[in-house]
Amino acid sequence: MSFIENLEAVEQRIAAACARCGRSIDSVNLLAVGKKHAPEVIQDAVDAGVTVIGENRIQEARQKIPLCSSLLDWHLIGHLQSNKTILAVEMFTMIHSVDSLRLLEKIDSACGDVGKSMPVCLQVNVSGEGSKSGLKPDDVLSVLEGAGALYNVDIVGLMTIPPFTEEVEDARPHFVALRELRDQLREDSGFELPELSMGMSRDFEVAIEEGATWVRIGSILFGKR
Ligand SMILES: *Cc1c(COP(=O)(O)O)cnc(C)c1O
Repeated sequence: MSFIENLEAVEQRIAAACARCGRSIDSVNLLAVGKKHAPEVIQDAVDAGVTVIGENRIQEARQKIPLCSSLLDWHLIGHLQSNKTILAVEMFTMIHSVDSLRLLEKIDSACGDVGKSMPVCLQVNVSGEGSKSGLKPDDVLSVLEGAGALYNVDIVGLMTIPPFTEEVEDARPHFVALRELRDQLREDSGFELPELSMGMSRDFEVAIEEGATWVRIGSILFGKR
């Protein structure tokens, strides 16, 4: 299958998931995840009309971005070490994976240095699974409160990665938990948090049914890594 055929299939599945739950297709953004794929492969996505690519590693993005179309926006979806925030701020137009107030402060100050504002999502470990990075649900409110004094970061929402299980339906309670946490934080913090970054190749339809506004999809678009 070519990239464009894969993209059309994904777009149809997104539309069908939206139809099932009465959402508008425009409320769901597709982030094509290009990690481990070469610039030539990314170009297939550009040719098919993709405008935003997700990457999870700074080093890889740093090598790849200069070799790809300048029309693309790049989003960071992986863990960011605080000593790499300047690089991240220069390369990316959104960061989905902020997991501490300290990192948020670093991003804010790096943005100040380069004169830029950065939309970010706070990554939450809703399942409590030990191997996953992300804030504990109970710690998110204090990060939002601490962010009140930061003017170069715009906290637009929450992100999560559910634990991997055989059954796709097992992801649903984690997506529900992220949405409910967002609804609670909206009341408690005054932050709107309109974005929910959740859902990957195997579970994006469930995520859309539970309110995802960004689905991060790699393997079913680009093929195996
Ligand atoms: C790799 C990755 C994805 C995409 O995963 P697929 O299963 O290939 O769709 C989404 N989100 C994050 C954080 C990732 O690292």
